[in-house]
Amino acid sequence: MTASVSTAASTVAPPRHSALTAADPELAALVAAEERLQADTLRLIPSENYVSAAVLEASGTVLQNKYSEGYPGKRYYEGQQVIDQVEAITVERAKALFGMEHANVQPYSGSPANLAVYLAFLKPGDTVLGMSLPMGGHLTHGWGVSATGTWFNGVQYGVRRDTGRVDLDEVRDLALAERPKLIFCGGTAVPRTIDFAGFAEIAREVGAVLVADIAHIAGLIAGGAHPSPAPHVDVVSTTTHKTLRGPRGAMLLSRAAHARALDRAVFPGLQGGPHNQTTAAIGVALNEAATPAFCSYAHTVVANARALGEELAARGFDLVSGGTDNHLLLIDLTTKDIPGKVAAKALDRAGIVVNHNTVPYDPRKPFDPSGIRIGTPALTSRGLSTSDMATVATWIDRAVTAARTADEPTLTAIRAEVKELMEAYPAPGLPVD
Ligand SMILES: *Cc1c(COP(=O)(O)O)cnc(C)c1O
Repeated sequence: MTASVSTAASTVAPPRHSALTAADPELAALVAAEERLQADTLRLIPSENYVSAAVLEASGTVLQNKYSEGYPGKRYYEGQQVIDQVEAITVERAKALFGMEHANVQPYSGSPANLAVYLAFLKPGDTVLGMSLPMGGHLTHGWGVSATGTWFNGVQYGVRRDTGRVDLDEVRDLALAERPKLIFCGGTAVPRTIDFAGFAEIAREVGAVLVADIAHIAGLIAGGAHPSPAPHVDVVSTTTHKTLRGPRGAMLLSRAAHARALDRAVFPGLQGGPHNQTTAAIGVALNEAATPAFCSYAHTVVANARALGEELAARGFDLVSGGTDNHLLLIDLTTKDIPGKVAAKALDRAGIVVNHNTVPYDPRKPFDPSGIRIGTPALTSRGLSTSDMATVATWIDRAVTAARTADEPTLTAIRAEVKELMEAYPAPGLPVD
């Protein structure tokens, strides 16, 4: 707080979070501390991003004061003259951007969106085929500890040991043996292009509903940097806050034939009132994602990931599947002789924020796995380019070596270097000094 009011610019700009600071200095200080942390560190978590100032503003509006259970024109509360328009515009933008006939923009987040898909198409005990969590899938694709694996019969495919990639012959064999009613493609730690057409052929063969969960890659698809699932799948499920660079939220898109089932599943099946401030912010993000600038952003995300992968491979890092087609790199640290969590914690102390992750066929336990997962959506939003990726790879390499030798001074030194570079790349809502 004090940093921003002491600058010359603040003589014209309003003080940051003045009402919050006056009413609740304790939480205001925490918000400021988080802003400082986000400003000073290199964020490599592939599911994170920095939203625009416009998205940030829309998320903090009085739209959040309104209850609007139902859908535009069919609400359970009056006073929807404006909210109906907000939701209708956002729905139209979602349909246009992803080329689907129907869109529901009300799911609170990606996990409830996926649960709504089950409610729309399955009965408890029915079979769902999804990618296994430790191979790169998501909890909600039928994994055991999730409600989706408890209430439904989850059958899981993985990746091949030799290629680190999904083998559609294996998926087909499983589908023919298990006859799932629902098939999920997509995941959270998948560095390669998803073959939507190949999955569609299998789904057709067994009469399953095919869902493309594009939570991670929605922005790449919108920007033309990953093939679109629209021509191939029945349902698209996506979060709005990862590469799509919107607020925390989710959407379900589908063919017109599934519109009613999905809408009823979201409300009244699973949720109450939609978060209208989020709906508006999703609308703003969708408008941004339809621009040439966003298209260029999406392609730069992929170029940065590829460049970073090459720089890391040149430093002896073992990339699952040998590289990346998208925004994400999965690194097996076994050859570096350090567990993923130890490396991730050391990188965090060096100002480089990643997450530990299982790698396919991981011999270690899920809470203490062999790998780390990194991605380039956030650093690309701050303006870093392929020419910066050698620097980033060198930091990672030095930090991992330092972690192995308990060399804290090197981690501290890297943290200062990271902070210095990041000062040149501001992001909306973050303090500048
Ligand atoms: C992030 C993610 C989700 C869940 O999103 P939340 O908003 O965290 O609930 C679902 N599926 C995939 C593939 C994801 O990557």
